[in-house]
Amino acid sequence: MAASSSVPLAMCESCWLVENTMWEPESMDENGQVFVRLVGVGMPEIVGADTVEVCCMCGELTVVGIYVLRDPSTVPFPDGGEADGFGFEVEMSDSDSDFETDFEDDD
Ligand SMILES: [Zn+2]
Repeated sequence: MAASSSVPLAMCESCWLVENTMWEPESMDENGQVFVRLVGVGMPEIVGADTVEVCCMCGELTVVGIYVLRDPSTVPFPDGGEADGFGFEVEMSDSDSDFETDFEDDD
């Protein structure tokens, strides 16, 4: 069975909906085009909303707190949550004391 290495991975709302909406054929026109209607949406279990994660399926940032059990080897962005790009490192130089004004103004 395939439950060996599944771990919770973040998933954005869009990708969740792709996998968890249920459609059923409603009618077909004369060209054979099938019209479908939405019959149900699976509701995700929201865990830790407001945490910034990267969707394991599309790589987009997500904050909705949806996690799915997946084998990381089967998703395109298994390590998204470890991206170092988060946060802005602002270097605060509070060193105005050693600010040197050594320019010479020879007028
Ligand atoms: Zn996604």
